[in-house]
Amino acid sequence: MRKILVLEDEDNIRSFVVINLKRAGYDTIEAASGEEALEQLKKNPDIKVALLDIMLPDIDGFEVCRRIRASNSQIGIIMLTARTQEMDKVTGLMTGADDYVTKPFSPAELTARVDALYRRTGGEVPAQDSGEISQPPFLLNTRNRTLEKNGQRIKLTQVEYAVVQLFMDNPGKALSREEILDAVWGRDYFGEVKIVDVNVRRLRIKIEDDPQNPTYITTVWGYGYKWGF
Ligand code: CA
Repeated sequence: MRKILVLEDEDNIRSFVVINLKRAGYDTIEAASGEEALEQLKKNPDIKVALLDIMLPDIDGFEVCRRIRASNSQIGIIMLTARTQEMDKVTGLMTGADDYVTKPFSPAELTARVDALYRRTGGEVPAQDSGEISQPPFLLNTRNRTLEKNGQRIKLTQVEYAVVQLFMDNPGKALSREEILDAVWGRDYFGEVKIVDVNVRRLRIKIEDDPQNPTYITTVWGYGYKWGF
C-alpha cells in the first residue's frame, strides 16, 4: 500500500494536497486535527509518509511529530510550513521530521518531495497515472513518459523527460537551478548544479525551433529557467 497521511485543518489546502497525491498514485488518509491524525496512524500502521501542518486547532504539528516519533522511527515525516513562520524556529523544532515544504507549494514540488521521502523510507514510487499534459505544440504523455512536438515524437532520456515534466507542471514560473536539481535528481544528489545547465542545453537542441534563440525554455539570468510561452 502507498498510504500517506495528510494532516491539515484548512479544507481547501488539504483537498489540494490530496487531489495531487491521488493523481500521483498515492492512497491518502485525511486528518483535520492532531488527535485525529494520531488516531488514523493507530488505525493504519501501514502509512509510510505523513504530511503535518503546524498550526492546528488542538495540538500543534511539532507535538504530533514528537508523539509519532516516540513510537515510530520508520515513517517519513514532512512538515507543511507557512512562509511567515521563522525558519530557524521551524528547523529547530523539527528534529523528528525528515523534510519540510513551504506553503504555497506547486503540485510538482510536493509530489517530488513525497516521492523522494517515500523512496528513502523503503517504499516503491508509484507510476504517474495522470495521463497527458497538453501545451501546444507540446504533448506530454505521463503514462508512457513521452513527449511530442506537433505530433512528432521527440526522443528524450529519462532525466530530460523529468526536466520537461517539471517545466510543464510549472508553466510560466521561474524555477531556480537548485529547485530543478532537487526535483529531478533528488535531494540526495550531491553533484553540481551545472548538470541542470547541461541537460537544458541538450533539451533546447531537441525541442526549440532555434536552439540559439530559445523561446520555450528561457533563461532567467542569475537564477534558473522558465517554461515560457
Ligand atoms: Ca493550519
